[in-house]
Formats: sequence, structure tokens, C-alpha cells
Amino acid sequence: MKIKINKEKCIGCGSCVSIAPETFDFDDDGKAEIINNEGEDALIKEAIEYCPTAAIEIDKK
Ligand code: SF4
Repeated sequence: MKIKINKEKCIGCGSCVSIAPETFDFDDDGKAEIINNEGEDALIKEAIEYCPTAAIEIDKK
């Protein structure tokens, strides 16, 4: 599943990083970034669901 982080919305809460550490990590600004787009879809979906600001967006391109 191809996803991207909306950095304007991300508040750096770390929820996605703890749910799916193979997919998300923090960038230098303390916001989430995608480190690998091949992670498990189930975990990515869970991270999307639990992101408090809906900053994880599915990239349909
Ligand atoms: S769960 Fe959402 S707000 Fe929290 S770090 Fe991840 S993308 Fe940012």
C-alpha cells in the first residue's frame, strides 16, 4: 500500500511509529516519515486508523 504523510497535519505523536516501525520513523523535525512502503498492509491500516490527525494518506497515484 502506497502512503504518504501530510506533514502539515502530523503532530509527531509517535502512534504510527509504534504500531508499524518497519514503515514509519521520525524525520529531523520530529514528524513521521515513510521509511519503507513495503510494510504489512494490516499494520499500515491500523496506523491510519489510530493517527489522531488523519495525517497518513493513501497515495492513489
Ligand atoms: S500517528 Fe499521525 S500524527 Fe502521530 S506521528 Fe504518525 S502521522 Fe504523525
